Amino acid sequence: MIVDCHTHINYYEDETQPALPSVLEKLQTTMRRNRIDFSLVLSSYKVSPGRPSTRDLVHALRDVKNIRVVAGISLDRNGPEDLAEVREYVQGGMVKGLKFYCGYQPFYPYAEQMAGAIALAEEFNIPLMVHCGDTYSAKGKLKYAMPIHIDELAVDHPTLNIVICHLGNPWQAETAEVTYKNRNVYTDISGLVLGSFSDRFEKFMLNHLQNMLLYGVEPDNVLYGTDWPICTMESYLAFIEGLKIPTEGRSKIMYKNAMRLFKLDERDSPYYR
Ligand SMILES: [Zn+2]
Repeated sequence: MIVDCHTHINYYEDETQPALPSVLEKLQTTMRRNRIDFSLVLSSYKVSPGRPSTRDLVHALRDVKNIRVVAGISLDRNGPEDLAEVREYVQGGMVKGLKFYCGYQPFYPYAEQMAGAIALAEEFNIPLMVHCGDTYSAKGKLKYAMPIHIDELAVDHPTLNIVICHLGNPWQAETAEVTYKNRNVYTDISGLVLGSFSDRFEKFMLNHLQNMLLYGVEPDNVLYGTDWPICTMESYLAFIEGLKIPTEGRSKIMYKNAMRLFKLDERDSPYYR
């Protein structure tokens, strides 16, 4: 079983072109080709034709059982009305987590302006995913995207489950420490490459991941995710294949942790029997 906890239905090549329904159809084809049971789709902090809103994604996925939404919470659109809408989707089972785009937007993950969203995640016990590490855009501000800031959020909210996205690349050592120290912190391996890994880069990133596990990060706290369509699913499956880890730890990374954390039902997988 495989859960890809980090994908997007965005059309990055030209944001004026609609991403729905074409990118969703492409995601479903790609999942079938790679036998992926579940994907979580993260809505953006921006809304444009190429970046569908949480609402548009929820509507598009109404009859698709094995793709669910993680709602991007924007610094400038998280008032009571915005959060009331997200709450409704959480209650209806369509939204399974929240996402902050720290770095892309200038705020720390524990910012006072985000208190309402943090409280929502705590109330429903859904994970909060946080962008950490390099911002693809040169306009991003890196200090907000450093994994060390997750520590403050994790300590002050011990019942909140937090996911450091992208292993916090290139701050894997910081991610390892924050994840090792706090039981409620997880990290996903998504978005480590654009497109496909070259052999050298794959080895380089695999070493980082292997070292994090060696340092003391438990497989219980690592999640498989790709960042598709930014990275290919084929390349990611080949990448994780190279990780030297006992079978039980691998199952946790590939699906068990995500099934539990995002409260997915295995009966919704097209391969369930
Ligand atoms: Zn992403």
